[in-house]
Amino acid sequence: MALYYYVNKQSGYNDNHVVHASGCKYLPSQAGRLFLGSFYAPTAAIQQARKYYPNALGCDNCCPVTLKKKLNIQNSVGLKHMVCL
Ligand SMILES: [Zn+2]
Repeated sequence: MALYYYVNKQSGYNDNHVVHASGCKYLPSQAGRLFLGSFYAPTAAIQQARKYYPNALGCDNCCPVTLKKKLNIQNSVGLKHMVCL
C-alpha cells in the first residue's frame, strides 16, 4: 500500500532535508513540510525530494537508509543489462 510522503522544508543538522512518511512521529508541522506524493517505497519518495533538495535524506524512523543502498545496486545492474540488450 502506498504512503504519503513529505520533505521537511527546513534543513536540519548537516544541511539535509529529511523525507518522512505520513504518520511518522518526526513529521514536521503542515507549514514546515512539502508534499511529495504517494509512493510504494521510501526510495522513490527520496528521489522525488531530491528534485527540490539535492541533499534530501530518508528519516531513520520511517525511511530506513539501508534499503536505499541495496536498491541502488539493483537498479544499476538492471540498467547495465538493458544497455547490453
Ligand atoms: Zn520520519
